Amino acid sequence: MTFNDLDLSEPLQKAVQKVGYTSPTPIQQRSIPAILSGRDILGCAQTGTGKTAAFSIPTIQLLNKSNLNGNGRKVSIKSLILTPTRELAIQIGESLSDYGHFSQLKHLVIFGGVPQNSQVQALRNGVDILVATPGRLLDLMDQGYISLSQLEIFTLDEADRMLDMGFVHDVKKVIKKIPVKRQTLFFSATMPDAIMDLANSILTNPLKVEV
Ligand code: AMP
Repeated sequence: MTFNDLDLSEPLQKAVQKVGYTSPTPIQQRSIPAILSGRDILGCAQTGTGKTAAFSIPTIQLLNKSNLNGNGRKVSIKSLILTPTRELAIQIGESLSDYGHFSQLKHLVIFGGVPQNSQVQALRNGVDILVATPGRLLDLMDQGYISLSQLEIFTLDEADRMLDMGFVHDVKKVIKKIPVKRQTLFFSATMPDAIMDLANSILTNPLKVEV
């Protein structure tokens, strides 16, 4: 299978070519068409399987389309990618830069442990895709700098690590503040009971993808 078989739009085909990928990994082969068709995903996948591209590429394609259909630039956050660590957040941001190279979307990465000023300024300039760790996200939401009321796609990355790091309460708080009508992409390397309970509470008829 090649990326041509995945119904990617031109900006994504070109981006994939530019980064030099020849064929999609198994999780990409299964997830990308499902996400493009609007389905929720329950993905059981480790780092290294290509899961970041599996959710980033279709997210960009879906938002490109919704931008075209809308009236000019979006001023609200359409996609949130929640991840447990600053390192992962930065890596996801780099992937979004690669896969979004030929798209007009704006993404921003926010995490704690650094001053919030530059993050707040960037939020004011408009963000389509927000990559965040839970603590800083809730902080900035509480201060009124972030609204997720127009969110369309919610991605939870490394859910089991969120649990291990004690972030589940924060994750649940975030979920309470996003629209019920949304697409949810849920990824975890392992699926213990607590993770399955969380998944079942936030996913609607998900495609289960295990790699
Ligand atoms: P991830 O599992 O998202 O952390 O990705 C692991 C690594 O695989 C990253 O360095 C990606 O750049 C790379 N990668 C993702 N998809 C592909 C692909 N289809 N072909 C080759 N490399 C890929």
